[in-house]
Amino acid sequence: MIDFSVEPLFQAKLDWMNIFVREECETMDLLWPETGACFDTKNESARKHLRPLQDQVKAQGLWACHLGPHLGGPGYGQIKLGLMNEIIGRSNWAPTVFGTAAPDTGNAEILAMFGTPEQKAKYLEPLMAGDIVSCFSMTEPQGGADPGEFTCKATLDGNEWVIEGEKWFSSNAKLAAFLLVICVTDPDAPLTSRMSMFIVPTETPGINILRNVGIPGDLPGDGHHAHIRYEKVRIPLDHMLGERGGGFKVAQARLGGGRIHHAMRTVGKCQRFIDMMLERAVSRRTRGRMLGDHQFVQGKIADSVIQLEQFRLLVLKTAWIIDEIEAGRMAHGAARNHIGMCKVAMASVYGDIAGRALEVHGSLGISQDMPLGAAFGGYMSLAFADGPTDAHRSQLARAYLKQTKPAPGMFPTEHIPTRLAAAKARYPNARPDAKTDGGPA
Ligand SMILES: Cc1cc2nc3c(=O)[nH]c(=O)nc-3n(C[C@H](O)[C@H](O)[C@H](O)COP(=O)(O)OP(=O)(O)OC[C@H]3O[C@@H](n4cnc5c(N)ncnc54)[C@H](O)[C@@H]3O)c2cc1C
Repeated sequence: MIDFSVEPLFQAKLDWMNIFVREECETMDLLWPETGACFDTKNESARKHLRPLQDQVKAQGLWACHLGPHLGGPGYGQIKLGLMNEIIGRSNWAPTVFGTAAPDTGNAEILAMFGTPEQKAKYLEPLMAGDIVSCFSMTEPQGGADPGEFTCKATLDGNEWVIEGEKWFSSNAKLAAFLLVICVTDPDAPLTSRMSMFIVPTETPGINILRNVGIPGDLPGDGHHAHIRYEKVRIPLDHMLGERGGGFKVAQARLGGGRIHHAMRTVGKCQRFIDMMLERAVSRRTRGRMLGDHQFVQGKIADSVIQLEQFRLLVLKTAWIIDEIEAGRMAHGAARNHIGMCKVAMASVYGDIAGRALEVHGSLGISQDMPLGAAFGGYMSLAFADGPTDAHRSQLARAYLKQTKPAPGMFPTEHIPTRLAAAKARYPNARPDAKTDGGPA
């Protein structure tokens, strides 16, 4: 049975989070609004304010809840995580305050899954403690995120791997203590065993950040997505994460969780847009009526509420499936299609609702006095990050097509004349006047 309810003790934690995120994390959003501020461990004033908040989160047992117990986290499960992330999603700073900021979450997951004890001590522990941030360096300037096109390579030279090639949109590379870089190590092997994952400390010579590319909302010259050229970057053998040729598997392991957690936070963001839309609709008059009395505004509200409810149920059902897999009641891989659905729906739901909320606010909505303009501008980022939406759309369709049999004859199985002929053959005397060349007589 699908059940999204939580016990009263956990509900009390959600209630605490609701107040804490609004009062504390949203205050940080206002004081340090710069895009990369929450990842900048050198921003002393922000960090001074951040630490006591993180301590409160830890005291509540709500720190880094994305990790299951076998990986060192509290293991609340995905439904509870979903409900938490809906609250966290309201604020840009909240993921950092709660130790669940991407890409560190996914990076922590794969370090916990595939790291050696030494790698965990050196990289995972400070990452989990929130002392450092990390970067996942996979997408390439020419090959995009298609592993079949990757050219950035690592070759063995004595006791070291030598990395050469370029990566694109490596978020937070300029602030990170280490990068996880996927490189071709075995070019002649089949695709899934062609690459390996490396932990590359950012102080290693040869890491050349050519540019930090900006997205809507970033100030000119203050982008956070690095175009990196790895110029004969030499790293020791023990800095491979997982096995040689296992890079594809390691990369895959971080993506499912990342996508569903993004979707959960998106629910919270969209709820905030709807709250803004509703408040404006009952606060502003035009043409002798409140905005909310105009039918187009009513339509925007209704469409948004329905769309969010549908999306929220999809996300929670996906969370439930993942919990069922963890509990051994569903097969491994059973959540794949649903995670794809969440990924595909996420950007369009977010864009639609942010866009409507903005429109209801008119010029104020597009102005920098409200958070809606920046939110709307960034919505395509959700479509591209963690893989392009179209790729997931296509993959989802293929999964359904694969399990579908072709029609047995010339016509579809739902062809009425064919079915009627079969029905008449089954009950010859029931309806002798029924026509076989169209619908029912
Ligand atoms: C905000 C943000 C942060 C990011 N952070 C990181 C990061 O930290 N590390 C990292 O490595 N990468 C990161 N990326 C890169 C991201 O993974 C890629 O943008 C994404 O995978 C798409 O690759 P691309 O941009 O090269 O687009 P392309 O692959 O060129 O795709 C362009 C378009 O082609 C079509 N298309 C492409 N592939 C398919 C397919 N298989 N099926 C159907 N249609 C397809 C789609 O219409 C797609 O929108 C980030 C991106 C964004 C926007």
